[in-house]
Amino acid sequence: MTYHSIAIDGPAGAGKSTVAKQLAKKLNYTYIDTGAMYRATTYKALSLGIDIANPYAFDFLDTTEFVFKNGELFMDNVNMTILNRLKEVADNVSLVASHIPVRNKLVQLQQLIAENNNIVMDGRDIGTVVLKNADLKIFMVASVEVRAKRRYEELQKIGSKQTLQELIEDIQRRDDFDSSRDYNPLKQAEDAEMIDTSDISIDEVTDLLYEKFIVKLKGEI
Ligand code: C5P
Repeated sequence: MTYHSIAIDGPAGAGKSTVAKQLAKKLNYTYIDTGAMYRATTYKALSLGIDIANPYAFDFLDTTEFVFKNGELFMDNVNMTILNRLKEVADNVSLVASHIPVRNKLVQLQQLIAENNNIVMDGRDIGTVVLKNADLKIFMVASVEVRAKRRYEELQKIGSKQTLQELIEDIQRRDDFDSSRDYNPLKQAEDAEMIDTSDISIDEVTDLLYEKFIVKLKGEI
């Protein structure tokens, strides 16, 4: 059986996860939030008290279980949705995600999931590294202000106290770090289509991608 995949990359807060989730639901595909895997890894490293600046201190990943259920990540049977939003996690995740052994391990797990499921996957290196042969590749962007505002509204729903200004700074810092790291940085794949979501609603973006994907699939049959 051939499985299909959609890769959605872009900077923090561009609307990737909401669109990916909605798209997966519409298509009855599995949604894989790769950012959640990097965040959960960061959470576990902080909990274990290891030196997170050391790329070789992440051996615990060999015995860590990641399972997605209805778009939510469970690490070692714990639902990570709320824990992954902790400020300590956001502050340290880009450093953890810049380590080669961490990326290699998580990319391997992501590719394994894609081998056995129809998926919509979002992240930073999906079109360039994880799913080079994805049926559809999208690079989603939006202005920093729009992105911070979206994050702010999302976080308020789960009771976070972070201010808009703090979120603008967090987003800028992570974008700089993620795009300038040496290994698999955030960048648009040559065959990805760029979509600016600053002035269109997330629902409209979902509909647009759905249409694009259906046209593409028809062309492949
Ligand atoms: O998508 P999200 O904002 O939850 O991602 C958190 C962080 O995880 C990013 O800022 C980036 O450092 C890292 N990440 C990554 N590669 C991915 C997904 C996320 O490096 N595929």
